[in-house]
Amino acid sequence: MFKKCPNCNKLSCVTKDNKFRPFCSEKCKLIDFGAWATEKFQIPGKNNESDYDENF
Ligand SMILES: [Zn+2]
Repeated sequence: MFKKCPNCNKLSCVTKDNKFRPFCSEKCKLIDFGAWATEKFQIPGKNNESDYDENF
């Protein structure tokens, strides 16, 4: 069974053996999840003003 990968629109095999489905690969799955996570956890705040820079 072939389906279009939601990330790169490449036709990929999405049998139950493909643990990355509906994506074609781990890369596409991670990219999509990353985009989702970035969007989801984006906090428009003023509290992260170079807090980390002090430690490096
Ligand atoms: Zn893909």
